Amino acid sequence: MSKKNLKRLDLIFKNEHDGEKILLKTLARPSQEIVNDLIISGLKGRGGAGYPTGLKWKLASEAKGEMKYVICNADEGEPGTFKDREILSQVPNKVLVGMAVCARIIGAHQGFIYLRGEYKFLVQQLNDVIDDFHVWMNKMGIDFRVKIFLGSGAYICGEETALFESMEGFRGEPRNKPPFPTQSGYRGMPTVINNVETLAHTYSIFKYGPEMFKDLGVQDSRGSKVFSVSGDTPIPGIYELEFGMSVQKFVEDFGDGDTKAVQVGGAAGFCVPRKRFANTKIGYQGKLTGESLPTGGSMMIFNSSRSMYNVLHNYLDFFVEESCGQCTPCRVGTQQLLLGIEAVKKGERPSDYLNRLLDLAENMRVTAKCGLGQSVANSFSSIVENFKEEMIY
Ligand code: SF4
Repeated sequence: MSKKNLKRLDLIFKNEHDGEKILLKTLARPSQEIVNDLIISGLKGRGGAGYPTGLKWKLASEAKGEMKYVICNADEGEPGTFKDREILSQVPNKVLVGMAVCARIIGAHQGFIYLRGEYKFLVQQLNDVIDDFHVWMNKMGIDFRVKIFLGSGAYICGEETALFESMEGFRGEPRNKPPFPTQSGYRGMPTVINNVETLAHTYSIFKYGPEMFKDLGVQDSRGSKVFSVSGDTPIPGIYELEFGMSVQKFVEDFGDGDTKAVQVGGAAGFCVPRKRFANTKIGYQGKLTGESLPTGGSMMIFNSSRSMYNVLHNYLDFFVEESCGQCTPCRVGTQQLLLGIEAVKKGERPSDYLNRLLDLAENMRVTAKCGLGQSVANSFSSIVENFKEEMIY
């Protein structure tokens, strides 16, 4: 299958050696102007939640606190997502520039990279880059330091407030929100926490201006997005593409000619069946209507040889394992969903039991405490509703 029409961008991965120049040039500008540029650019968080980055920085700059912090969330644990690993491996300087500018804007002197425990192999090379960055910042009189905090392998610690708990030495369990991190984050202080890719994008906006970024993508989904493409594809890997493409176009570019479903956004995301490829776009808009789907970066492709029952079983296994257990809807609900589909598949329960499981999943969406439990219904409902014949005995 020809992939010659695949239009890749290289804003993120272009190896640019002018990080120090861009940082000095940006720091010479008034903070308000920089924040305005981020707001104009339309940059939203690339971890999946999609909060406007400029607004987040503005809120933290206005918050009161003895100390403030900048945290780069590199706890990349969503199944099928491996793009932040590549960004940190290939262009860590762009992330550090983003953190240093954010620090100046909000008034922080300490930053952290919360690195997924499984990415321990990156620590040495990242520390080397951070050391060089510190030496240069010392020379320039910039008072900002970055430390790596290594996670311990819990998926839930990618949730920002569980991440703070983990950094403070407690179990990685989400906090109630509000207060939001810009008011009360790490150690109860105003904190900006941004995904690796988000910070790397700020570098491009500082260098090329907000209009360049805004000209890419569609409506509320501006700029480019880095995708981790896996599954039944002849060309798995990391790709930077423009926001707003349809799943149909994605399948034409990446599928093997026999694609029956695409999982957009990992286990916490939605499964798009073939009949909806043409009408579903990748972006932030309309995520509840299913017309546009957000993704932190994971795009998993399944061809007709795959059992969607097995796919769903895998996701539920994952959620049962990774639920922190703090709230009942998620702790018990994930287990009941798993046991429920097993019972239907074995014929121990009638096929209409799936409707009760769908109700349970929707209940979890509104009653679970954090995004983990709330998002189980995304993959559960979209797979059960679209591939019901594969779920039954
Ligand atoms: Fe923990 Fe799940 Fe409740 Fe989140 S939804 S707090 S992961 S039990």
